[in-house]
Amino acid sequence: MPKILIRKGKKEFIPELDREMTTVKAENYYVEDLNKDFHTAFGVIAKKDLQKNGEIVKSSMNKEFIIFDANFSDKYKKLRKLPQTIPSKDIGLIIAETSINKESKVVEAGLGSGALACALANIAKEVISYEIREDHIEVSQKNIDNLELKNISIKNKNIYEGIDEKNVDLIVFDLPEPWKPIEHASKALKVGGFLISYSPSVPQVMDFIQELSKKEEFLVVKTVEVIERLWEIDGRKVRPKSISIGHSGFLTFVRKVLNS
Ligand code: SAH
Repeated sequence: MPKILIRKGKKEFIPELDREMTTVKAENYYVEDLNKDFHTAFGVIAKKDLQKNGEIVKSSMNKEFIIFDANFSDKYKKLRKLPQTIPSKDIGLIIAETSINKESKVVEAGLGSGALACALANIAKEVISYEIREDHIEVSQKNIDNLELKNISIKNKNIYEGIDEKNVDLIVFDLPEPWKPIEHASKALKVGGFLISYSPSVPQVMDFIQELSKKEEFLVVKTVEVIERLWEIDGRKVRPKSISIGHSGFLTFVRKVLNS
């Protein structure tokens, strides 16, 4: 199991300068290979110390580090992400709004680097993902293996041509033309199930909604943009962080409410 190694930052009051200054810069490392010593800019952590969990270990330069086991989310952050990966702020809302759980069957397209597929497979019973590009399947397969997920099936298929599954609880489209497979989604979803489309641009959302309006069995619940703002808390100096997280995409939540 990989480990997280942390060097906690420290601030101290420097009388000569009459102010607080950072005397130890915070550092955060991800240790994948526990079978050899780990090198940092602050000395080497011995292999035997890498086995510890929830303890303080000292480097060869006598600097202190905290070590603990990496969890799913720590490993997830290390995945290789291709462009247009759905960020966690959006994934969080998908999971909360649809309440998928260990009984759920989920279909998604396209797989991309598999970020969304992995996050959903960590919660659902099974995830079936459609992807047309073999090079993307290769990247995502490595990510899936790294996370040791066994409940993702990848289909090297064009989802515009059909969805093989039936009785699906949730379908997520992250596609250039999400309006094209609406009819397939209608056949694959169970009543009460959700269809979610994730699109970076407004015209995609407009065309998706326009196409849905022709179908009686679908209820458009809402379209949202999730905005996450980071804050800096430094004593009484509290303000939004100056680096902003840019636009990711719009999420449109749709529910199948009638037998089709
Ligand atoms: N949701 C993914 C990112 C998807 S990017 C993540 O979180 O990592 C969009 C992907 O859709 C690309 O990999 C692209 O190759 C794939 N794609 C585009 N059209 C498709 C289609 N008709 N059927 C299946 N996959 C498709």
